[in-house]
Amino acid sequence: MVRQSEMYDVTVIGAGPVGLYAAYYAGLRDCRTKLIETYPQVGGRLISMYPEKEIFDVAGHPKILARDLIVQLTEQAMQYRPTVVLGERVKGLKILGERVIELATAKGLHYSQTVVIAAGCGAFVPRKLDIPQLIDLEGHGIYYYLPSFEPLRGKKVLVVGGGNSAVDWALSLEGIAAEVTLVHRMYRFQAHEAMVERLLASNVTVKFPYFGLKEVTGEEKVTGAVIWNERSGKEERIEVDAIVLSIGMLTNLEPFRQWGLSIVGNGIAVTTDMSTNMPGVYAAGDIVTYPGKILLISAGAGEAATAVNAAKEYIDAGALGR
Ligand SMILES: Cc1cc2nc3c(=O)[nH]c(=O)nc-3n(C[C@H](O)[C@H](O)[C@H](O)COP(=O)(O)OP(=O)(O)OC[C@H]3O[C@@H](n4cnc5c(N)ncnc54)[C@H](O)[C@@H]3O)c2cc1C
Repeated sequence: MVRQSEMYDVTVIGAGPVGLYAAYYAGLRDCRTKLIETYPQVGGRLISMYPEKEIFDVAGHPKILARDLIVQLTEQAMQYRPTVVLGERVKGLKILGERVIELATAKGLHYSQTVVIAAGCGAFVPRKLDIPQLIDLEGHGIYYYLPSFEPLRGKKVLVVGGGNSAVDWALSLEGIAAEVTLVHRMYRFQAHEAMVERLLASNVTVKFPYFGLKEVTGEEKVTGAVIWNERSGKEERIEVDAIVLSIGMLTNLEPFRQWGLSIVGNGIAVTTDMSTNMPGVYAAGDIVTYPGKILLISAGAGEAATAVNAAKEYIDAGALGR
């Protein structure tokens, strides 16, 4: 029997932008809310991977630093005083009975009527390339994300990739680094068109299509790279001090499958109201998949509101506040 004082209406797993917005929305819907986050700080990937990058595609903000967006989302989330548990990773989820869900972390158990999973891409590691020197020089000029741009000030930087992140990194580093080169191996970019236009008009040297990284040189730190045209085989040796690889993430959703959740491809399968296959368990943000899903903060915020509304209705079928 779970004590009433221990029971929450909504527990949000993950305090990235989507989890923070879910916590805010749950407060707005008068839910007793708990937010549990693995790391000692809130913010998700905006803080761990790109705090200094500008974001241009969040509603109401023509331009905002990732770090500042998290400050504002946190302020918004905290106005209804959710219980915030930092430094605890949810390792287990069990449905004990109708509207009784138990969450287990290494430090203890948490109880909730409903859960909103906003865990980003779960446990993830950056996708790497099979180039021996990349592994040897990790930490000495090889980057997979940039918690700060300062180490790259005045440096010659090579960015590898052609998605939104790679294009954003290259543009963000222009003006900070001495030189920026971007290589992309596909025949077109997988990034927002306006940003690609901005990239092509910038001082970044863009090598595409079919350009990839072939070799990294350097003994104790990166000093150069060999890039090549994968079609023609033609190679080019360039001098660089740093290489930023932005070629995707390898995600591990196995723990969520073990909880009993239905996983499709790289995400937790949800219906249009963000419910999963488990009663009382909802999901939102980068962790979910459905036809047409896009991996953006703005999409995740909408999903968080939908998920919380569905959770509220599940707890109280008569609630009218949506
Ligand atoms: C380099 C880069 C640049 C980007 N730029 C943009 C941009 O300009 N605009 C845009 O809209 N999007 C951008 N994105 C995408 C954006 O970061 C994601 O869409 C967004 O972070 C998703 O938010 P989230 O809250 O779902 O996940 P996350 O930000 O990943 O947060 C998930 C949180 O859940 C926590 N967590 C995970 N598992 C558990 C667990 N078991 N227990 C407790 N906590 C857990 C994690 O520690 C993490 O803090 C970018 C992504 C990258 C990598």
